[in-house]
Amino acid sequence: MSEARYAQSAPRSQALFERALAVTPGGVNSPVRAFRAVGGTPRFMVAGRGPWLTDADGRDYVDLVCSWGPLLLGHAHPAVVEAVQAAVTRGTSFGTPTEGEVALAEEIVDRVAPVEQVRLVSSGTEATMSAIRLARGFTARTKVVKFAGCYHGHVDSLLAAAGSGVATLALPGSPGVTGPQASDTVVVRYNDLDAVEAAFVAHPGEIAAVITEAAAGNMGVVPPGSDFNAGLAQLCAEHGALFVSDEVMTGFRVSRSGWFGLEGVRPDLMTFGKVMGGGFPAAAFGGRADVMSLLAPAGPVYQAGTLSGNPVATAAGLATLRECTDELYAHVDKVAGEVGALVSTALDEAGVAHRLQHAGNMFSLFFASGAVTDFDGARAQDAYRYKAFFHAMLDRGVYLPPSAFESWFVSAAHDDEALERVAAALPAAAAAAAAAVEGS
Ligand SMILES: *Cc1c(COP(=O)(O)O)cnc(C)c1O
Repeated sequence: MSEARYAQSAPRSQALFERALAVTPGGVNSPVRAFRAVGGTPRFMVAGRGPWLTDADGRDYVDLVCSWGPLLLGHAHPAVVEAVQAAVTRGTSFGTPTEGEVALAEEIVDRVAPVEQVRLVSSGTEATMSAIRLARGFTARTKVVKFAGCYHGHVDSLLAAAGSGVATLALPGSPGVTGPQASDTVVVRYNDLDAVEAAFVAHPGEIAAVITEAAAGNMGVVPPGSDFNAGLAQLCAEHGALFVSDEVMTGFRVSRSGWFGLEGVRPDLMTFGKVMGGGFPAAAFGGRADVMSLLAPAGPVYQAGTLSGNPVATAAGLATLRECTDELYAHVDKVAGEVGALVSTALDEAGVAHRLQHAGNMFSLFFASGAVTDFDGARAQDAYRYKAFFHAMLDRGVYLPPSAFESWFVSAAHDDEALERVAAALPAAAAAAAAAVEGS
């Protein structure tokens, strides 16, 4: 049905996808890339330049995904390319400490006040997994509170009621996660401090940590209420648990010191990834020195990685962060506001009920009439309209997240030409969303 219709227009991507399906489950190395929620053939990209992506069939798109957040400078930024080329020429991995790791750690500590010490890892998943292990080691407690719709990577114990691909595919959880792992996780409603308090009452002296996305971006963008993160920090302090703020998405994206820079609530531990790797696998977790000092070899909590602090990845991350000035964030914020306004105006003109929600320069579109404050609200949207909207934009050269449960991202490279492409595509996409019928 719709699969075949969309497949027609991307013959080289279609051929590559068929090859991929033969050797890789679902044809992709990360589920949301497969277009399952929107139908059609995932586009295989061959090049990126500034705000543009080029696919295997030679078509270009304005990229509103930016590799799911990392590319705050846009594709192939000259400073990043140069730093990577220089690093790779010196050797790709040494398995010893290098100065680049120290410089990247210093940059993070300098930018984010609650981070006194930081450990580099290779993915956001590793960062949250390690932060949770450390919190358990520090508190000698087992349970972790997480919020429905928040995604912290594919850590076993954190997959319960998760956002991102788990939400996109409407999975109830994941087989392969054991009962004890799942039962050590207490899932509560996002933006609901009473529910967190009730969890502490129900599990006295057992909760090691509360982990939250600093601003939720993996159920679509659902910002925290004005007192939510501060309330979490306070409840954790009262009950002897650690407050873990997951800034893998927001970190270094929404300000030079991430969501912490906008809100100022001090977590005990924080996790980072995406932007700090400059398009390479680099991530980190850090926080209070007394907690971090429990990590091996300083302390007994084990954590390690063959490619942790890889010299090419750290060079890309450092080059990226050094470009991330206050002026750069002001530009990205402005572009995000402009794209959001264009989308809203087009949908208003087509008479389609929707909400555009922002968390700093992250934003997303819900086909819903009221404010979305939690996962139930996000799931209640008319996601079938997104499918029609997505394909109408794709056909007109705008690449959106292939899921209604993901944030949209812009970069410092998004310019007037890119915005004109988006503006030109929107009326037809808004009309397609208006005409969409459930179940089609
Ligand atoms: C992307 C993301 C992760 C996982 O990072 P990976 O590098 O994909 O493992 C964790 N937490 C949040 C908030 C994320 O957005």
